[in-house]
Amino acid sequence: MNKNRTGTIEVICGPMFSGKTEELIRRLVRGQIAKKNVSIFKNAVDNRYSDEYVVSHNKNKIKCQSIKEAEEIFNYSNEIDIIGIDETQFFDLSIIDVCHKLANDGKRIIIAGLDRDYKSIPFESMAYLLAHAEKITKLSSICMSCGDYAYFSQRLTDDESQILVGESEEYEARCRKCFKP
Ligand code: ZN
Repeated sequence: MNKNRTGTIEVICGPMFSGKTEELIRRLVRGQIAKKNVSIFKNAVDNRYSDEYVVSHNKNKIKCQSIKEAEEIFNYSNEIDIIGIDETQFFDLSIIDVCHKLANDGKRIIIAGLDRDYKSIPFESMAYLLAHAEKITKLSSICMSCGDYAYFSQRLTDDESQILVGESEEYEARCRKCFKP
């Protein structure tokens, strides 16, 4: 299928609060305007938003599917032209192969996720996807300490697990100077 179309992998990365999901939705809404079938997948570990749809500012609805394993995307991907994956850092390395297969099948894959954890260590799946992507967008946030551009996610709690799903109570965006690993 889709033999005439070339698939691609795009990555949108950056620290917490840098607007990665917004940018993902913006690209998918533009796909909808172009009459493409679009869908967002997110890891079931992220239950902050339970809705089945993501609703954008201009009231467009995008179907959002919670999955546990990256391979589950294949169960839904048949009719979809543009596949968004949010919070991609929560997936293990199998997400890389899944993205390759989908892109080789002619689909446009748009990955959004944190490039590095709260210790500034790269998330492995994201590091590989960044290396394999055709197009990369690195977003910045604003440093909560000094107002400069921020590329680091400062954790505010003592929790030492790599994955701690959280919002503004657990994390702050920081610049290189203000980041304390
Ligand atoms: Zn700063």
